[in-house]
Amino acid sequence: METQNWLIKQAQLNPDRLAVSDGQTSHTFAQLLTVVKADAAHLAGLTTQARVGLLGKNNLLTYRLALALLSMGKTIVWLNWRLASPELAFQVADSELDLVLVDDALMRAEFDQRYQTYTTVLARPGQAVELQATFASEAIASIMYTSGTTGQPKGVLQTFGNHFASAVASSLNLGLVANEQWLCVTPLFHISGFSIVMRGLVYGMAVRLMARFDPVAVEAVLCTEPITILSAVPYMLKQLLQQRQRTHRAYQPAFRLVLLGGGTIDQATLAACQAAHLPVVQCYGMTETCSQIIALSARDASQQLGAVGKPLFTTQVKLMPTTHEIAIKTPALTPGYLKQPAKFAAKMVDGWYLTGDIGHFNAAGFLYVDGRKDEMIISGGENIFPQEVEQVYAAMPGIEAVAVVGQADATWGQRPVAFIVGQAQPAQKLIDYGYAHLAHYKVPKEYHFVAALPKNASGKVQRFKLRQQLAK
Ligand code: ATP
Ligand code: MG
Repeated sequence: METQNWLIKQAQLNPDRLAVSDGQTSHTFAQLLTVVKADAAHLAGLTTQARVGLLGKNNLLTYRLALALLSMGKTIVWLNWRLASPELAFQVADSELDLVLVDDALMRAEFDQRYQTYTTVLARPGQAVELQATFASEAIASIMYTSGTTGQPKGVLQTFGNHFASAVASSLNLGLVANEQWLCVTPLFHISGFSIVMRGLVYGMAVRLMARFDPVAVEAVLCTEPITILSAVPYMLKQLLQQRQRTHRAYQPAFRLVLLGGGTIDQATLAACQAAHLPVVQCYGMTETCSQIIALSARDASQQLGAVGKPLFTTQVKLMPTTHEIAIKTPALTPGYLKQPAKFAAKMVDGWYLTGDIGHFNAAGFLYVDGRKDEMIISGGENIFPQEVEQVYAAMPGIEAVAVVGQADATWGQRPVAFIVGQAQPAQKLIDYGYAHLAHYKVPKEYHFVAALPKNASGKVQRFKLRQQLAK
């Protein structure tokens, strides 16, 4: 399938509709096409490579340059600015980039001539350039590296067809309202952010960009601007909730929901959101599926606290026998990892993609995500999900953060061990607390107090590093 260039199409269908805003400057789709054309003229001739790196914050220039690259037929390689330089160097080499466009504020002394600031490239004399008239479904629009929660990040290929399928499936679930305006504060270099941009182009919807998550600033936007949807990951929702509980300020009446995904959330937070009249719709997805593939509907969200929902219209889900690993079929599924066909092939079984996550359905057909398969601890034949144990301990006074991993054990096969950030406490007190809330086999018998937990650049705890530490 081939579609008309989505930006050109929207400039024809909805020229006067708001396309994007950063709170100060905004563009309609017609204006956007004009500025993107001009940007493309400055970029023309900079590289003959099919892929171009983009290292930018959520701002208008990053958004414009992303659209310029797509309209020039380039593949965007989204780079995470929180990465250390050697981590970035790995991804730049892996995707064989000879050009990385860098937000001025993100330039680093160690970057070589491949890295060029937005200002430098936009100061080049413009050349006449023809924008791509069409987007082919199978063309690679973007490459995005996974978070690296479980090890080395993988470059995920995302086609226009994947993005289109994802955008359509989301709207079939959430619906589209007049003057929909989606607040994009999750990073554009993650699928939670970039998928908003793609939905904006497919729906003809306004995207409100925000460069940095700050609960006070986000609340201020929700209270003063006609935002309808906010995408958030768990830590953002928690901070926003606390902010709301402090101020009791009312969001604009247009606001309809927080779309929450990316990681485990505890029931207590969801219940508190409900009490605070903060509508949350959980969803589940991954970089490989171009964002959500399973989601609650706004209608079900308040009834099914903790569930991640039902498979979206074009997604099929099954649980693998015995392991209960979540397996999926969806048109939003990546064609594979960059240069790692074997790694991807290993996750495909009879046309089903194995997600690496374990889940269960409740009687009403809603899916729950229990945890990651390779983080599950099997102790004396019983399965223990670190997330469940962590949520219990996270609620204990004096504990700021906790991570639970399995350690090899001669008697039980494995046993749970906890790493805790917070006030040191005697092990017996921690064990007694655990016994009061959890089955005994789930309660860690060993506790390590640490200054911080190892986290990846998106803030997810890297339990594999703790396991390595224990193995030493
Ligand atoms: P890597 O693949 O490099 O280890 P990652 O899997 O964390 O990193 P992402 O693609 O950003 O990278 O994250 C997708 C994963 O996040 C899912 O496979 C799942 O484990 C987790 N996840 C996403 N949404 C939810 C949710 N609603 N509840 C629980 N876990 C979730
Ligand atoms: Mg993953």
